[in-house]
Amino acid sequence: QNQGYTNILQDITDKKRIEALSITDKLTSLFNRRHFDNVLDLQLKHAQRANTPIALCILDIDFFKNYNDCYGHQAGDHALTEVARALKQNLKRTNDFIFRLGGEEFGIIFSNMNADQINDILHQIQRSIIALAIRHERSRVHNYLTVSMGCRVCVHVRDIQSDTLYLAADNALYQAKKARNSIVVV
Ligand code: GH3
Ligand code: MG
Ligand code: MG
Repeated sequence: QNQGYTNILQDITDKKRIEALSITDKLTSLFNRRHFDNVLDLQLKHAQRANTPIALCILDIDFFKNYNDCYGHQAGDHALTEVARALKQNLKRTNDFIFRLGGEEFGIIFSNMNADQINDILHQIQRSIIALAIRHERSRVHNYLTVSMGCRVCVHVRDIQSDTLYLAADNALYQAKKARNSIVVV
């Protein structure tokens, strides 16, 4: 009897561990791309039901290929974990979700925040990443590692689809990349 109960508990914790692993990026322990797709759909539906704003931000490290070429892949991996840590430190609300979307690209989903609030947070993140003081002598924009950010804030959520939101954020990132170490909110 007792043993059976223990086995069930064991099964539950195993299942939870497997679930957690399947949504977690190994290097940074942020949520992974697969989870991003699900959370974006869910948060968008939630925003539509409640008629509250939603925003998607995509961040991409600047000149990261140069960084790897200069300092090595292992240093690159370490820089990725440091950037992830800076993101986590700046995003502590339960409604903020942070993801590693792949490579040197990260995503943030903000719920129920206006463009001014998001702008403030993104500038704070920009400062925090520079404050990591990760030397990057082959960046063309700074002595330290920087990121570019593209963000789409949606206030009228009724007819929005997740891929439209994604494309808009990605396009904003493309604009931000023209200057680098910069933030474009649309
Ligand atoms: P840009 O400023 O335009 O974003 O240029 P970039 O060099 O950052 O962009 P590009 O897409 O040319 O290069 C991305 C680099 O990111 C290439 C790849 O070696 C590196 N990278 C992707 N994933 C990882 C990873 O998991 N670890 C390490 N160390 N490097 C990675
Ligand atoms: Mg990239
Ligand atoms: Mg890059």
